[in-house]
Amino acid sequence: MNTSCFIMRNACPGCGLKNIKTIYSSGYLEKPLFDFIKSYYAPHGTIDTDCLKGASYILCECNDCGLIFQKEVPNDFLMSKLYEEWINPKINIENHKNNDTLGHFIDYAHEIMRIIKMMNRIPSSIRVLDYGTGLAKWALMIKAFGCDVYGTEISYGKKRHAQECGIKIVDLNDSKESQFDLINIDQVLEHLREPLKTLQLLNTYLKPDGIIKVGVPNGVNIKAQLRIMDWEAPKQSKRSLHTVHPLEHINCFNRASLITLVNKAGFKLLNVSSFNNFPLVFRKNPFEERHPKHIALIAREEWYSNFRQYPTNLLLKRQ
Ligand SMILES: [Zn+2]
Repeated sequence: MNTSCFIMRNACPGCGLKNIKTIYSSGYLEKPLFDFIKSYYAPHGTIDTDCLKGASYILCECNDCGLIFQKEVPNDFLMSKLYEEWINPKINIENHKNNDTLGHFIDYAHEIMRIIKMMNRIPSSIRVLDYGTGLAKWALMIKAFGCDVYGTEISYGKKRHAQECGIKIVDLNDSKESQFDLINIDQVLEHLREPLKTLQLLNTYLKPDGIIKVGVPNGVNIKAQLRIMDWEAPKQSKRSLHTVHPLEHINCFNRASLITLVNKAGFKLLNVSSFNNFPLVFRKNPFEERHPKHIALIAREEWYSNFRQYPTNLLLKRQ
C-alpha cells in the first residue's frame, strides 16, 4: 500500500463488522485499470500517477450486510487532490452547464415539491441542509421554493461556486446548535470513508420530526457486472462498473445494505405508501384539462414510481 496517499479499511464501513472477503484486486498501475483511469480523468483534470504507485484497487464484500466496498481508499491528501485537481471544479461546472437537460431540473423540482408537500409546511419555515452540495443545483432549486438552505462541500472550488450562487456554506463541526428540518445527502455516501459516522453525525443535526433524503447509485447488478469486468463499458450501459468507480465510489450499496446502514445510524424508513392522500401537487395540468382525481392519481403514481425505479433513494425519519 502507498501509505502517503491511501488508508486501509479492514472492517465493513456499512455495518462495522469484519466478516468480509476480497472479490477483486488489481494494482492501480496495471492494465486495464490504469488505462480506464487515464481515459476517464483526461477530460476532467490532471491525475498524479505517483499517488497510485504501490496502491491496489481491492473490492471486498461484507458477508453480513452485503455492502461491496473498496478496501484501500484515498486518505485526506489524495481525497483533496482527487476532488480539486483530478476533477477540476471549473471544468466540472462547465461540463454540467453544457450537459444538464431540462429533464434534469424538472426531476429536482418534482422531488422537492413532493417532499415539501409531504412535510405540510410553509417552505420559508423549512431549514434545509444539503450535505455534499456539489454544484449546488439541488440546493438552488429548493432555495427557489423559499426554504432556508445551507450546504457543506469538501471541494474548495465547488464550495466557492455554491457561495457565489447564494448558498450558505456551514462547517458542521463549528455549528453544534444548528438543527435542520430536512437534510439531503444524495450521491455522497458512496464517496465517504466512514459513511456510518457521517450519518450518525447528521442524525444529531436533524430535528426530532425532521426528514432525511438519502440517495446512492444502485449497485443491485454489480455481481453480474464484476463477472464481466468491462472497464470500457459506458456509464449508462448494463456492463458499466460506475457503481464501483475506482477511488470515488468506494462504497457500493444495494437497497438491503443501504437500509442496514441507515438503521444503524438511527433512522427508520418513512412509509411512502402511507401518503395516499399526498397528491394534488399539480392542481391543474397546464397542458390539458383533466378531472382532479385523475391528476391526483398521476401525482401519486409518479411518487411511487420514483421510489420503485430508484430503490436506493430513501426518505427517512429519526428512530
Ligand atoms: Zn457490512
